[in-house]
Amino acid sequence: MAGNDSADDDDTHPASHERFMRRCIAMARAAGARGDTPVGALIVRDGRPIAGGGEQTPTGLDITAHAEIVAIRRASRALGSVDLRACTLYTTAEPCFMCSHAIRDARIWRVVMGARTPNVGCVSSAYPILSAADITPWAPRPQSSSGMS
Ligand SMILES: [Zn+2]
Repeated sequence: MAGNDSADDDDTHPASHERFMRRCIAMARAAGARGDTPVGALIVRDGRPIAGGGEQTPTGLDITAHAEIVAIRRASRALGSVDLRACTLYTTAEPCFMCSHAIRDARIWRVVMGARTPNVGCVSSAYPILSAADITPWAPRPQSSSGMS
């Protein structure tokens, strides 16, 4: 709950980051076990998980079914809105171009990511659209951090 400083309820607390990232890792492992790319993502608001999912591209026959997109779709349905500005997205991998577009359009305010994907990742690649400050329709850019720190 917002305003509660307990590690269980505060998504700004490092212990919460670790707990939510562990859930992403479990979803990533499940995705890998069924033949999908092992990526998992979770949307959290006010310290509470809203929705999550693992990659479903080949098994779902859907090129857009990256873990972050799956989580964003489910969170929008759960909240009844495509405006996710109060939410944090956790993901096991640095978001790609497609997912970064969705993250910015949904106005997700913070992204906590695991592994860097320097070729197609939108923070560390040559096309950092997740962190770019000069894309005015998407301002402000989300906070982003990698790992558990
Ligand atoms: Zn993606």
